[in-house]
Amino acid sequence: MTKAQQTAASIIELYREKGNHGYGEQVTMIQHMVQSARLAAAEGYEEEVVLAAFLHDIGHFFDEEAQMGGYGTEHHDEIGANYLREKGFSEKLVALVQGHVTAKRYLTFAQPQYYNQLSEASKATLVYQGGLMTEQEAKAFEATPHFELCIKMRYWDDGGKTQETMGLEILVPYEAMIIRHLER
Ligand code: FE
Repeated sequence: MTKAQQTAASIIELYREKGNHGYGEQVTMIQHMVQSARLAAAEGYEEEVVLAAFLHDIGHFFDEEAQMGGYGTEHHDEIGANYLREKGFSEKLVALVQGHVTAKRYLTFAQPQYYNQLSEASKATLVYQGGLMTEQEAKAFEATPHFELCIKMRYWDDGGKTQETMGLEILVPYEAMIIRHLER
């Protein structure tokens, strides 16, 4: 096994092991992340971005870290990003994973109606995540290199909450995608 294959296998193992848990939403983590990835693919984004959507909540699987009540792992954005960076994922992919919570905070600031349509779980976790952004934080976030895509990620994230039956075989193409990415 190459290093890329090993990493991909261990990530998919994490999904198998932890991905059938909920996190305060109507869907499991696997359903949520696969649906987010599909939304990215449906908009014609490249594999790197699709994979970022598939991996965006991987930090929730590190459940030995501090928890947000029944709503998953606190700082799951940073924990996920750090893990993926260490495993050799691209700077852009890591930035998208890292940015998906910041994007939520940004949108609650920039578009007040955005807050109202958030799920109850998403409203609850916002409190743990620092609440609404300040104008200064928003300006700083707008200046980051992947700002627009982070906002896109957020909409795919919010869109991936549909109840749907999914078997674990759904993970197979993502394992291949991870290997291709790490061997890029
Ligand atoms: Fe998510």
